[in-house]
Amino acid sequence: AKEEGGARAQRYLAAMQDVITSRLALEKNLRKALERGEFVLHYQPKVDIRTGAVTGMEALVRWVRDDGTIVPPQDFIPVAEKTGLIVALGEFVLREACRQMHAWQKRFGRLKMAVNISARQFQPGLPDTVASALADAGLDPGLLELEITETTMMRDLALTVSVLERLTTGGIAVAIDDFGTGHSSLYYLKTFPISSIKIDRSFVRDIPNDETDATIVTTVVSMGRNLGIGIVAEGVETEAQLDFLRSLECPEVQGYYFSKPLPPHAFEAWMENRLRV
Ligand code: C2E
Ligand code: CA
Ligand code: CA
Ligand code: CA
Repeated sequence: AKEEGGARAQRYLAAMQDVITSRLALEKNLRKALERGEFVLHYQPKVDIRTGAVTGMEALVRWVRDDGTIVPPQDFIPVAEKTGLIVALGEFVLREACRQMHAWQKRFGRLKMAVNISARQFQPGLPDTVASALADAGLDPGLLELEITETTMMRDLALTVSVLERLTTGGIAVAIDDFGTGHSSLYYLKTFPISSIKIDRSFVRDIPNDETDATIVTTVVSMGRNLGIGIVAEGVETEAQLDFLRSLECPEVQGYYFSKPLPPHAFEAWMENRLRV
C-alpha cells in the first residue's frame, strides 16, 4: 500500500530529528571529552627513502573513551569542524605535539613534527596561536610543520597567502596535504610558500601496476625535485610500492609499511628499535 504523503513527511521529520539529536549528543560528548582530556595523539614516522632515517612524524588525534575504545578521527573531526569545536581541539593538538617534540628532541634529535590544520583553524589568528604554542613548549619553529589541504588553501587566496607568509617567515614548514585531490594543485605551488607536498594515498595505492597512477606519481616526484620542494608519498604499504618510489628517487615516504600511527610509548619503542639496527 502506498504511504500517505503526510505519513511519509512525518517519518522523514522523525528521521531528521534523530540525526540532529545524535549530532547534538556527539557535540556535547566531544566538548566534555576535551575538558576531560580524552584526546590523545598518535605519531606516524616519515622516513628518508635513501638512508632509512626517520625525518619526522605526523601527529594524528584519537579520542580514547571511558571504556578504553579508541575513536578514529573520521568519526569526530567532521562534527568538530561543523560545530567549530575543531578550533579548541586543534589548539590542543598543536600544543601537545609541540610539547612532545620538545621532550623527544634530546632523545631522537631534530625531527620535524607535522600537525594537521583544518579549514576552520586557518584564520588570521593562526600564526599567533602557533607562535604561542611554540613559545610555551620552548620548541624551535624549524621543527614544526603544518599540513594543510588544498581545499583549505583555495577558500580565500588572499588570506592563504598572508597566513602562509607569516607562518613561513617565522621558520615553520608548510606541506600541502592530500596533494592532487584538490582543484588547482599546480597553482598553489606557484603562489604559496610551500616546503613540501604529500602525494595522496589514492595515487600511491595502486603503484606500480596502475599505469596512470605510476605516471602521475612519477611526474609529481620529478616536478617536486625540479621545483626544489620536498615530496612525501603517503600510504606506502608494500615493498613493491617502496621499490617503485625508490626508483623515482622520491625523497620521503610514510605508511603502514614502516609503522601505523603509534601512541607515544610505542612510538618511542619503535624509534629505539630502529636506532639499534
Ligand atoms: P591525513 O592527514 O591524510 O592522515 C593520514 C591518514 O592515513 C591517517 O589516518 C593514517 O593513519 C592513515 N595512513 C597512514 N599510512 C597509511 C597506510 O599505509 N595505509 C592506510 N590505509 N592508511 C594509512 P587517521 O589517523 O585515521 O586520520 C584520518 C584523517 O583525519 C587525517 O588524514 C586528517 O585529515 C584527519 N586528522 C587526523 N588527526 C587530525 C588532527 O589532529 N587535526 C585535524 N584537523 N585533522 C586530523
Ligand atoms: Ca596529514
Ligand atoms: Ca594526507
Ligand atoms: Ca587523507
